[in-house]
Amino acid sequence: MQIDIITAFPGSFAGVFDESMLKRAQEKGLLQLSITDLRDYSGDKHRRVDDAPYGGGAGMVMRAEPFYLAVEALGVNRDDPGARIILLSPGGILFNQDKARQLSLLNRLVILCGHYEGIDERVALYLAGERISIGDYVLTGGEIPAMVLVDAVTRLIPGLLCGASLSEESFNEDLLEYPQYTRPPNFRGMLVPEILLSGNHGEIKKWRYCQSMEQTRRYRPDLFRKFKR
Ligand code: SAM
Repeated sequence: MQIDIITAFPGSFAGVFDESMLKRAQEKGLLQLSITDLRDYSGDKHRRVDDAPYGGGAGMVMRAEPFYLAVEALGVNRDDPGARIILLSPGGILFNQDKARQLSLLNRLVILCGHYEGIDERVALYLAGERISIGDYVLTGGEIPAMVLVDAVTRLIPGLLCGASLSEESFNEDLLEYPQYTRPPNFRGMLVPEILLSGNHGEIKKWRYCQSMEQTRRYRPDLFRKFKR
């Protein structure tokens, strides 16, 4: 998969993609990541990419043209079925594990990061294929949401993680994961549940499934209702 991030603040990404799973995905040749500096397409000697909003109001709005030029330079088109141009916006559809799974099956993502008061609406209407939000809160820019999206999608790219890690983690079948423990069995008087030390894999499997349901019922009743349906 190739992922391009278009941003007016490329320095935000320094080091973020050079550790752990993202580093491994790149080393294994499963992921190619690159950052495009939106200001290279500003067409302005001061490299400005924003302007005052029509109709007045607080703050500045990012101009449409630099985004169009940057995407055109990448040669990506929103009608390409293997690619997706994603605009990050608090007004987008909420990102979740299902969406991450769908995106992980594509071979090209282009992520557009907004800043200031947001981006001229003509980017959402005619350039981006979809608008995604990472949660119901407002961040300063799309850079952190881009990191979230890249991380969540990358770990699902076929061939990176083993199938068992993915099939037994939270949000599969609308359940949270069961609790995990490691050594020592007794930590300051807090004991690991005995069943996990029993070696009885059938019983451990049943216990984990019950615990998954219990965790979900307690911490995410909204998911639990979906699970029960
Ligand atoms: N004025 C906008 C509004 O009220 O919806 C908020 C703009 S926000 C300060 C600037 C940029 O940060 C957005 O264009 C978007 O790219 C990014 N952003 C902020 N919160 C986000 C979220 N929850 N999900 C995705 N992107 C977000």
